[in-house]
Amino acid sequence: MDILFLGTGAADWDWSLPLKAGVRGSTCTILDGHIMLDAGPTVPYRMEQEKLNSASITDILFTHSHSDHFNLDSIAYIANAPGRKEKLRLFGSKEIFENTADLPIEGKCLEYGVDLQFGEYKFMPLPANHDLGSFEKKAYHYLIEKPNGELMLYALDGGWLMGRIREVLKERHLDLIVWDATSGTSRYNWRFGCHNDLYMIQYMCKGFGQLNIVTDTTRHVFNHIARTLWPTTPEERQAAAKEAGGLLAEDGMSISF
Ligand SMILES: [Zn+2]
Ligand SMILES: [Zn+2]
Repeated sequence: MDILFLGTGAADWDWSLPLKAGVRGSTCTILDGHIMLDAGPTVPYRMEQEKLNSASITDILFTHSHSDHFNLDSIAYIANAPGRKEKLRLFGSKEIFENTADLPIEGKCLEYGVDLQFGEYKFMPLPANHDLGSFEKKAYHYLIEKPNGELMLYALDGGWLMGRIREVLKERHLDLIVWDATSGTSRYNWRFGCHNDLYMIQYMCKGFGQLNIVTDTTRHVFNHIARTLWPTTPEERQAAAKEAGGLLAEDGMSISF
């Protein structure tokens, strides 16, 4: 699987267009060139910058409905792409579909724990610890399994992982975790119920290490980076990520899994 981090920023960056140098776009990840995770406000701009064809996006899975992840103009841009062969498919919580009636899309509401198949990959939506301002609205992490059994946990937005995730992962091994690392080096940040800092991530890794869910071979990517909660310079941010044992996501970075 090819993983492209199209945008890697939390909502405190200046998203007036064109994006200024060094500004991270809204968090969006593209798998194998056609499965998109989240479509926030900077997605059309970033796709054009990367010379990506929006008609090749077949599916968008939403982690949640916050405006930095869910933007109707961005969805319309992809759904109406010239040359599109099939209707764009959207997956998310029910509030995602409250405003998409006028768009040429097919929508499917997600249920926690119920697998979806995308080609050879299995996706399980899992509950995320992320507040959406109501008891009704839902946020998802995704457990993504390759045919060879290798597992990626795509875990943003969300603070401390839910106990249900630990139960689902029992006796299993995570090969890659894409973490919500919003709060970076800000220790004891009040966002802990919604977002992680690097110390929380290390705590969870050590805990999961006791169950062999996370081992030395597990790779970690830190994503959804807040401008104001990480060190100021790119070099200092890189160093902080390295010290915490992971790779700092950057806009346009690709990794294979
Ligand atoms: Zn966010
Ligand atoms: Zn959010």
